[in-house]
Amino acid sequence: MGLANLLSTLLPASDSDPEPETPATATTAEDATSTDVVHECRSCGTNVSADTVRCPACDGEDIVSYSID
Ligand SMILES: [Zn+2]
Repeated sequence: MGLANLLSTLLPASDSDPEPETPATATTAEDATSTDVVHECRSCGTNVSADTVRCPACDGEDIVSYSID
């Protein structure tokens, strides 16, 4: 008595319509574009570059960085 025999006992029989295997292509094109990191002034919301420590718009030093996925 094998595993397949056991499964056929537990599951409803559908011998004429075998269930197709789910393709293992879980990685889509959206996943290929990796995580984008955005750096933004917390005071005024201006987008700045990664190495910016002071906002060019409002001269604030609160630069926050977060990732968009
Ligand atoms: Zn700012």
